Amino acid sequence: MPTWPNVRADFPVLHQQVNGKPLVYLDNGATSQKPRSVIDALVHYYERDNSNVHRGLHTLSMRATDGYEGARTRVARFINAADPAEIIFTRGTTEGINVVARSWGHAHLKPGDIVLATGMEHHSNLVPWQQAARASGATFKFVPVLGADAEGGLDLAALDQLLTPQVKVFAFTHISNTLGTINPAAEFCRRARAVGAVTVIDAAQSVGHGPLDVQALGCDFLAFSGHKMCGPTGIGVLYGRRALLDKLAPDETGGGMVVSVTYEAATWKPAPERFEAGTPNVADAIALGAACDYLDALGRDQIAAHDALLAQYAMEQLSVLPGIRIIGPRVGAPRSGLVSFAFEGVHAHDIVTFADEDGVALRGGHHCNQPLMRHLGLTSTTRASFYLYNTEQEIDVLVASMRRILKFFGTA
Ligand code: PLP
Repeated sequence: MPTWPNVRADFPVLHQQVNGKPLVYLDNGATSQKPRSVIDALVHYYERDNSNVHRGLHTLSMRATDGYEGARTRVARFINAADPAEIIFTRGTTEGINVVARSWGHAHLKPGDIVLATGMEHHSNLVPWQQAARASGATFKFVPVLGADAEGGLDLAALDQLLTPQVKVFAFTHISNTLGTINPAAEFCRRARAVGAVTVIDAAQSVGHGPLDVQALGCDFLAFSGHKMCGPTGIGVLYGRRALLDKLAPDETGGGMVVSVTYEAATWKPAPERFEAGTPNVADAIALGAACDYLDALGRDQIAAHDALLAQYAMEQLSVLPGIRIIGPRVGAPRSGLVSFAFEGVHAHDIVTFADEDGVALRGGHHCNQPLMRHLGLTSTTRASFYLYNTEQEIDVLVASMRRILKFFGTA
């Protein structure tokens, strides 16, 4: 551990002390660290190629355009999209979902329709759909999470009942950022397609953590963020099936996305330009392409296997702590590389603050999952989330830190 002996050397940020202790970074569900090759791609772009894209005929502009469009092609390959035109660069998952909820929602939803999501959605894949339903007069429904103990799964019997021909869109997360549940996304898409519903996958927690193939999944839209997959902040991707994108009106208008403009009206370019008004985030798109290269070079299957091993090890080590409540799939059941837990009588914010004294970076709170927290009867959890550079030794440090906290609070 890790699977690649020198992988930690690729991440400059990992080699520092925090509060006098070696940094143990276990907040990858919030954002991942960046390898040197991604940082270099950013620096290289700003030092050599920085220019505006598409409209320029000089050398730097052409280089910037090649880099930007090359990144689009690279991302298409990363998720096996049939056509680079299906890749729309956004600021991140949140923006991608908002684009679909507003553009597609505005064009297709009407009173009597149903918008379906799940009980484990991040607010980013919940609130935009609530808004779309409200604006159109459609009804918003969600597939419940099984049991108050939330052993992780969605109620598939309820899904069967809920997926009626009135459902026009089914929006669901591929991997829960709080439970660690891995949803059967291809199966969900198949079932949704059978009733004529469009599918929107929130892939924020999955795309950098294993293989992902939009054609095999059979989804209509899929959104993710660069910063959770070794790429920079401020860049993300909305994948949309070409046939759907070409029929959608843009959500934002302005320069770069128009064919012709008069004082009275304008006409739109095809996708993806139609959805990328204004100067795009060229540097970060190029660096996202570098992140795709980095992850593919390590091997996406190996990354998934590494995450899964760490999650199981963490489950085994944490589950023996007195008074711990681990939410999500049980020990041995499939789960993504994260573990959320709570201790009776100790607030997650105290745990995170104490852990920071030991150099351990965790996340505590509702994780943008307030309805799920309510369902679990909790206000917050502590979340340890792992990535390709984490080790079992770091989980040992986490567990030792938790023991120190429990001792301090007199619960161990
Ligand atoms: N969806 C899930 C499952 C997430 O975990 C997150 C971020 O934590 C998001 C959506 C939102 O991502 P971003 O803030 O990068 O738009």
